[in-house]
Amino acid sequence: MRDLRHEDLQTLHGVGSRRAQLYRKLGVTDVGALVRLYPRGYLNFRPQPILSAPLGEPVTVRGAVVDKKGPTYVRGGMTVSKVRVTDGSCELILTFFNNKYTPAALEIGQEYLFYGKLSGSLLRREMTAPLIQPAGEAPALQPVYPLTAGLTNKVITANVREALERLEDPVDDPLPPALREAHRLCHLGYALRTIHFPPDEAALEAARRRLGFEELLITQLALTSLRDRTRLTTASVLTSTDWSDFEALLPFHLTGAQRRVIDECAADMARPIPMNRLIQGDVGSGKTVVAAAAAWLAIQSGMTACMMAPTEILAVQHYENLRRLLEPAGIRVGLLTGGMKAAPRRAVKEAMAQGTLDLIIGTHALLSEDVIFRRLGLVITDEQHRFGVNQRSALFQKGENPHLLVMSATPIPRTIALLMYGDLDISILDELPPGRTPVETYLIGSDKRQRALGYIKRHLDEGRQGYIVCPLIEGEGPGMVSASRYAAELSDGFFRGYRTALLHGRMKGAEKDAVMAAFAAGEIQLLIATTVIEVGVDVPNAVIMLIENAERFGLSQLHQLRGRVGRGAHRSTCILLSDAKNPDTRHRLQVICKETDGFAIAEEDLRIRGPGELLGQAQHGMVSPRMAALLTDTALIAETRQAVSLLLREDPTLSAPEHAGLHAAVDRLIADDRAGIFN
Ligand code: ADP
Ligand code: MG
Repeated sequence: MRDLRHEDLQTLHGVGSRRAQLYRKLGVTDVGALVRLYPRGYLNFRPQPILSAPLGEPVTVRGAVVDKKGPTYVRGGMTVSKVRVTDGSCELILTFFNNKYTPAALEIGQEYLFYGKLSGSLLRREMTAPLIQPAGEAPALQPVYPLTAGLTNKVITANVREALERLEDPVDDPLPPALREAHRLCHLGYALRTIHFPPDEAALEAARRRLGFEELLITQLALTSLRDRTRLTTASVLTSTDWSDFEALLPFHLTGAQRRVIDECAADMARPIPMNRLIQGDVGSGKTVVAAAAAWLAIQSGMTACMMAPTEILAVQHYENLRRLLEPAGIRVGLLTGGMKAAPRRAVKEAMAQGTLDLIIGTHALLSEDVIFRRLGLVITDEQHRFGVNQRSALFQKGENPHLLVMSATPIPRTIALLMYGDLDISILDELPPGRTPVETYLIGSDKRQRALGYIKRHLDEGRQGYIVCPLIEGEGPGMVSASRYAAELSDGFFRGYRTALLHGRMKGAEKDAVMAAFAAGEIQLLIATTVIEVGVDVPNAVIMLIENAERFGLSQLHQLRGRVGRGAHRSTCILLSDAKNPDTRHRLQVICKETDGFAIAEEDLRIRGPGELLGQAQHGMVSPRMAALLTDTALIAETRQAVSLLLREDPTLSAPEHAGLHAAVDRLIADDRAGIFN
């Protein structure tokens, strides 16, 4: 049997090392992966009559060329060409700017398909720079692939076509025939060909359903097997679940939700099987103190604990907070990050190996091979979505089946959480600490920017601090400000004499830490930043935030950003600045202004933009795009969940011969991790 998974992309026509490199950016490493690079959409080349086709949205019309004018030169060296077309019902004028070749190639009297947005008046229609196909040749639905600079849709389409020709016949289908029959699923070979080149919508839908089913099924089987792997025994069992002495250390009263979740963790850790628990909670719901309680419990029972944070800034902050909280109880807390100097790093590692530290907080540096833990009983990861299951298990390996506590960064709707974290039990912190006033949120246009800046200035004058968030570090998109230019302009201009600083993800770890530490200490008044600040940083004196180009962010991300203010006793404000006119975009931004509950926002985000945005996959590659598209299909999720439990009841180890293909697919998903869900 031919296995396309290991076939080099460069065996395809027109693919050399450069294109192979570009394909890698799309996650396509071999011919097999190319076949699985599903289109993100389709152009509908099914023509409509020019006269009745809707205006203002992309449509295809069919017409014969009547005559051509141009190119004529207009101002600024631009050229304009016009082509007149008719389909008998109506006339259509095509306009091409700075493009002599496309109109020149059109032959008078010939029929073509034109794809684009129609505008115009009652009896005359216009279209600018349409996509063109000779009539009769093109299939009705044409694939549109995810693009990366340098790879055109045309090239990808041709490469996919060639790759599909290499599929063996019949294709080896991981779904056994009985399962396909029970769920009315088409064969994999048909599904793959159809998803790229669908003859019609009905066939496309059948292909989608089948491929989605497979994806969801295998993902859930993988998560289940992972859960089983961690259903081991552990020697790290609490000797007591009483945490009243911990509570006495706190400067505040715990919320009811915090108590409940701490009890859940304590009960888990009192059993001889490792805890696998996810804590979900809104921004500011106080997840850290729950983690601290779990660590305290573990340490009282003679274990050590570690906490891994996704960034240096956050690790340092946790370290400082937890040290302040726990050292009075005689707990020795250490910090290990990649940014530390060699000598202190060595000292911490030695202390860890000797077992003279009880709680160690750090970044990925904790995963490094030369880091040795003693009696590691509890592993905590903060802001889980930045870490993969593989990293999780790498930490497991550092101890003997230690307990695991995962804190999520962002509230995630339940359907998604079940899929993403199917291997974990879920605790929900559904109560904010008392005394929080919701962050007042407003949407304004750039005409009011100056007033907003003045408002920020007044807060700085009163001794408060603030953030300005920009979508880009540098470079300017159309109508977009970059953090670096904005920071330069503001610090020399409007905020001259104030202590401002720039913070972004491309700065060195030590630089970032220095800026963040200065901000936390109140030495910096105004931080102009990118989304790096989204991750957990806690500065209670920061009470105002301005988010530039707010339309560029997902709802959950805006909510997460907004969570950086409103952390103290002062009233806080978040100003969303956007000139976006699109009604959907404005509606989205209004949701943030009105809604303060992170779970509700996450549900809304899921509904409006799909799960990719919600999970920030663009940045973190957590869910493969094709997985993302499926996460909204709750009916399909439910159906696959049923199939999973039925399958595992009949064949828990998937060792029956007809399940060999499924078994292999599950192993592959866990092992090569490329699909993204485990990343
Ligand atoms: P998140 O859930 O977003 O990680 P944190 O753990 O950072 O939230 O907590 C946010 C802030 O709330 C911290 O300053 C923390 O000390 C404080 N906090 C946590 N629990 C309580 C409580 N029960 N009462 C008052 N303040 C609390
Ligand atoms: Mg946090």
